[in-house]
Amino acid sequence: MGYEQYDPMNSSLTIGRIMGIPIKLHLTFLVILAVFLVAFSMNDSEILGFTLGFGALDTDWGTRYAFGATAAIIFFITVLIHELAHSYMAIRYGVRIRSITLMIFGGVATMEEIPKKPGQELKMAFAGPLSSLAIGLGAYGLMLLLTPIDSNSILLEGMLILIGLMAFYNIFLAAFNLLPAFPMDGGRILRSALATRMSHLEATKKASAVGRFSAIAMGMFAIWQFNIFLIMIAVFIYFAARDEEQATLVNDSLEGVNVVSLMSTDVKVVHPDTSVQQLLDLMYYTRHKGFPVVDRGLVGMVTLEDTKRISMEMFRFARVRDVMTSPATTVMPSTAAVDALKLMGDKRVSRLAVVNESGSLVGIITRKDFLRVVDIVAIRKQRANWGAPPGQVPPPPIPPTASS
Ligand SMILES: [Zn+2]
Repeated sequence: MGYEQYDPMNSSLTIGRIMGIPIKLHLTFLVILAVFLVAFSMNDSEILGFTLGFGALDTDWGTRYAFGATAAIIFFITVLIHELAHSYMAIRYGVRIRSITLMIFGGVATMEEIPKKPGQELKMAFAGPLSSLAIGLGAYGLMLLLTPIDSNSILLEGMLILIGLMAFYNIFLAAFNLLPAFPMDGGRILRSALATRMSHLEATKKASAVGRFSAIAMGMFAIWQFNIFLIMIAVFIYFAARDEEQATLVNDSLEGVNVVSLMSTDVKVVHPDTSVQQLLDLMYYTRHKGFPVVDRGLVGMVTLEDTKRISMEMFRFARVRDVMTSPATTVMPSTAAVDALKLMGDKRVSRLAVVNESGSLVGIITRKDFLRVVDIVAIRKQRANWGAPPGQVPPPPIPPTASS
């Protein structure tokens, strides 16, 4: 289906690698695989000349299910090809692909970053639906070629239905993905088209609004049709559109900002021998949920979460060294804020220690520090667009002062 910058999937199983990309199956994929298997095996309806399953095949149920299973597996291979097409273009633009995951809503390619140049994003977004369309049309051609063959062979009849299924569902997949809603490819195509005329952020906001509107329309249609799966997809699209806007807002706001301008330099630290009891008192009085652990140099990081791991019996004796995370995840003052935020996501931590070249602690940066700056930058940019009244020079930025 789409591709994303952040990995939402954790409970996945890696089944192999293609073009160096780990291919993963998410637990929910088994559900959708089973649904397709049963639907293909039992369905006997026809749409536009396509038979949508093996239900009417004149044979025993075992054979029908064997065809159904084969068709379901081949279909998900074509979904994988769709994702590989996105990934191939991304790799050409120098983007690293972390993984491709097959899950309940199809496939997701997780990328390090999404190219911001409108032309590149456009080609990358089109690659997926184009590959589905090519597979669909190819299968359709094959179906037309084989249909006139007159035979009583169940195998040939089944093959013909299978090829028809691939034609129908791949053309459907291409069309569905061109819906102008994130995280559908159509949403990204819309964004890159808009981005040639406005800022990347503005384009994302507009595309996201269109996406949410489409999701609501789809949701209403789904409720009217009483289609549970479509309702789920509509909800998924609605929140994905919102997330995409948020992620872009954060990334664009942090552009050109380094860790040094976000970090707190007034860092309180604890010693590895500090008791957990004392640590909790310190947290209570300072309202900080985590501290760097220092013993002639930075040795780790300890957070409120870490203290929850100790049992009641051990609590009285536990020291910081027993629960801390060591070594601490660190960044430099010159690290780009976007990279620091990405590191937090990768390591699943909410604070990073800032160290200088010689390795000594100079500051700390938390998730909240990022959110604060995003708010401020968003308002500042908006006001800058309004422009200062003539003859009035905006005041210089206030120099940072030592905070207490
Ligand atoms: Zn796609």
